[in-house]
Amino acid sequence: MPEPRSRDSNEPVTIRRMNPEISGIGERLDHIRERIERAAVRSGRSADDVTIVGVSKTFSADRIAEAYAGGIRHFGENRVQEWEAKRSTLADLDAVWHLVGHLQSNKAARAVKLFHCVDSLDSLDLAQRLDHAFASRAEASPGKRIRVLIEVRVDPTPTKSGASAEELPAILDRMLTLPRLEVKGLMGVPPMGDPERVRSAFCRLRELRDAAEHRSGISLPVLSMGMSSDFEVAVEEGATEIRIGTALFGAREAKPA
Ligand SMILES: *Cc1c(COP(=O)(O)O)cnc(C)c1O
Repeated sequence: MPEPRSRDSNEPVTIRRMNPEISGIGERLDHIRERIERAAVRSGRSADDVTIVGVSKTFSADRIAEAYAGGIRHFGENRVQEWEAKRSTLADLDAVWHLVGHLQSNKAARAVKLFHCVDSLDSLDLAQRLDHAFASRAEASPGKRIRVLIEVRVDPTPTKSGASAEELPAILDRMLTLPRLEVKGLMGVPPMGDPERVRSAFCRLRELRDAAEHRSGISLPVLSMGMSSDFEVAVEEGATEIRIGTALFGAREAKPA
């Protein structure tokens, strides 16, 4: 087991929770970092510009603490209630919690209490609810905003979530008027499969981001794209955040509903 790399990862809470014999998270993380490094070099980028978001759905708080000990500081969950159930023992960790799955509109109030970022915002209605929920929560600190990404549908399957590329400009313009949202970029979940098809989806997302920046005059630095099976291609195409589940935590036992 390699030493934790991060400066502040040796807090007692973390050490107590580590169970290196059975999980292999430390080794997997080293391997992921090497692959990111190589992909960054290939594309003339710096690996420092790529943040790993550990997608911990279905995994226990202990596994999350272990990934934290290895230096992971961003985590993603795809269901509000799952994260609500397991976060109590992790409250001290100085990490950033992302909601990466679709948010049901009746859970907006809970989501703003539980997550620092909502990466999967795909409609104006949801954006308004989130803005409103955050405003009622953050009365004491005017100027505070919740970070969001607009999820854009880069999978041609019509049932998949995400705003369409056509509606993105209008949605973005309206979201920029919501005072409690800090729109930082775009997120995309391309179809699984043929790497070249995936590459073109990543490339398209980057182009949509560039066009949206140009149009709005707003900086949209974050591109959240790439998962365990395709993160190297995503890095080559400009991802600044990659959402890694199985390559970090191991195989998921159950597919979350
Ligand atoms: C589960 C999930 C991931 C991680 O998927 P892996 O293939 O296990 O890396 C990334 N993004 C979203 C939105 C997810 O739901």
